[in-house]
Amino acid sequence: MTYFNDLSPYSYSEENDAMLNVGWLDKEQAYTKGPTPIGLVDALAKLAKGAVNVQRGTHFCNLCPDFQTARENTSRGNTFIGSGEVRVTSEQGVIYTSPAMIVHYVEAHNYLPPMEYCEAVLARP
Ligand SMILES: [Zn+2]
Repeated sequence: MTYFNDLSPYSYSEENDAMLNVGWLDKEQAYTKGPTPIGLVDALAKLAKGAVNVQRGTHFCNLCPDFQTARENTSRGNTFIGSGEVRVTSEQGVIYTSPAMIVHYVEAHNYLPPMEYCEAVLARP
């Protein structure tokens, strides 16, 4: 998987919609950690069930301590999170795109996404 800075313009595919990247983490790059708003993990887990742009290959989390752990974490419950993206549109009309694995980054690696992203995720019905 490719690393992108949070809130950088999305450029992973040819789509033209203006989208911002969130949560494309890599162990070589520092990321923001901290407690996340209540309900965020559940909301991201729900989003992961509707992942789009699912690719053939599987992405393994490289923040996990070893490959065995990373392999176990390509699924969360019965949801596959090792590929695909989740998209969220804020009330302001900004579209955020994240790896389906963002739920794992928050839950297991203490990742704190940008607050505007958390708000957009939590504002979903
Ligand atoms: Zn991990």
